[in-house]
Amino acid sequence: MLNEKMVGLGTARSVIRELFEYGRQRAAVVGAENVYDFSLGNPSVPAPDSVNESAIRWLRGADPVLLHGYTSAAGDPAVKKTLADALNARFGMDYTGDDLYCTVGAAAALCCCLNGLCNPGDEVVVFAPYFPEYKVFIEKAGASMVLIPPQIEDFQINFEAFEKAVNPRTKAVLVNSPNNPSGVVYSEETIRRLAQVLEAKSAEFGSPIYLIADEPYREIVFDGAVVPYIPKYYKNTLVCYSWSKSLSIPGERIGYVAVTPSMAESELVFAAVAGAGRALGYVNASSLFQRVAADCVNDTSDLSVYAENRRLLLDGLRDMGFTCVEPGGTFYLFPRSLEPDDFAFSERAKAHDLLVVPGAGFGAPGHVRIAYCVPTERIKRALPVFEALAKEYR
Ligand code: PLP
Repeated sequence: MLNEKMVGLGTARSVIRELFEYGRQRAAVVGAENVYDFSLGNPSVPAPDSVNESAIRWLRGADPVLLHGYTSAAGDPAVKKTLADALNARFGMDYTGDDLYCTVGAAAALCCCLNGLCNPGDEVVVFAPYFPEYKVFIEKAGASMVLIPPQIEDFQINFEAFEKAVNPRTKAVLVNSPNNPSGVVYSEETIRRLAQVLEAKSAEFGSPIYLIADEPYREIVFDGAVVPYIPKYYKNTLVCYSWSKSLSIPGERIGYVAVTPSMAESELVFAAVAGAGRALGYVNASSLFQRVAADCVNDTSDLSVYAENRRLLLDGLRDMGFTCVEPGGTFYLFPRSLEPDDFAFSERAKAHDLLVVPGAGFGAPGHVRIAYCVPTERIKRALPVFEALAKEYR
C-alpha cells in the first residue's frame, strides 16, 4: 500500500500547471503568439551576466574535487559568512555564518523551518491570499494550516480574524511579502502590529510563536516600496530566502534560512532547522550555486522589465474597469474577476486564449492571478484581448 496522500500530490496537477499545460496544447493549434499565457511565475528576464561569469570563474579556477564535493551540511562556511555580512550591512543585523542554513530554494527553506518547529497537532497560521504549496508543506510537517481570510480592500493582514485564530496550538505564523499572488508589500504598520500580537500571545501562552518570513520576492519592488526587514521587529523570526526570482535562477535551486541570533535559544532553533534538513535529505545545497549566490549577493536581474509590464497592465486593466489593489512588488497582479465566480471568469478568458489563474486556490475567490513575468510585447498584444473580454461584461 503506497502513501495515498503522496500519490494524490504526485498525480493531481495544480490549477496553475493545468492552465500552463492547456496553453502549450493551444499553442500547438493556434500558434504560440496567439496564446496569452499568464499562468506561471517563471522569471522572464535572464540572469545578470555576473551569475554566468561567477559560475565560469568557479568552474575554470577552483579545484574541481573541492568545488563539486560536499560542503558542510548547512553550507560552505565562507559562503555563509559572505551572506551574513551582506545581510548585516544591508539591514543592520548581527548574523554570523552559523545562523544561516543554505537550502535548495525557498521551498526547502520553508520545509526545514516547518519540520524543525512543528510537532503533530500544531497549527501554522497563513494569511490569504497565499502561495498554495504552503498547505502541502505544513501538512507534511505534521501540522495543520489555519487560513485567515483576506482583507480584500488592501490585502494587508485581517487582524480581527487573526487574533481570534491564535491559540496555544499556534506554533508559527507564515507571511509572504511581497506577496504571491497579490503583489502587495506588508506595510511597516502591519508588521509592527503583527509583532505586537505575537509578543502578547507568546507571553500569554508561555511559549514562543515563531514567524516564518518567506521572502523570494524581496528585491522585486516598484515605485520605492519598502519591504520591512521582519527580524528587526520580531526576534522570533526565521527568514526564508531564495535567489530564484531576484537573480532569475529558479532552476538552480538555491536559498537559505536565516535564524535571528537574538531569539531565545537560537542555537537550538538552528539545530532543529538543520535536523529537519537532514531528515528530509536536503543537506548540502548546490555547491557551485552557493558560491555563485555569494558572489552575486548584491545583484539582481534587470527588474525594469517587470516595472514596465506592471505599469502597462495595471493602467490598462483599470481603464477597462478592473479593480486591483496596487501591488508594491513581485510580478503578479491580482484583480477582481469581472464576475463573482473566478473559475467561470477564468474559463471565459480561456475562450480568448487568455490564461489567468482563479483566485480560489490562493484563498481569495472572486480574483484572478496574472503572472506578468512575460515579454513586454505579450502584454501589449494582450491588452486588446483583455478589453474584448471586459466588453462581454458591460
Ligand atoms: N514562496 C513563494 C511565495 C513562491 O512564490 C515560491 C515560488 O514561486 C516559492 C516560495 C518557492 O521558491 P523557490 O523556487 O526558491 O523554491
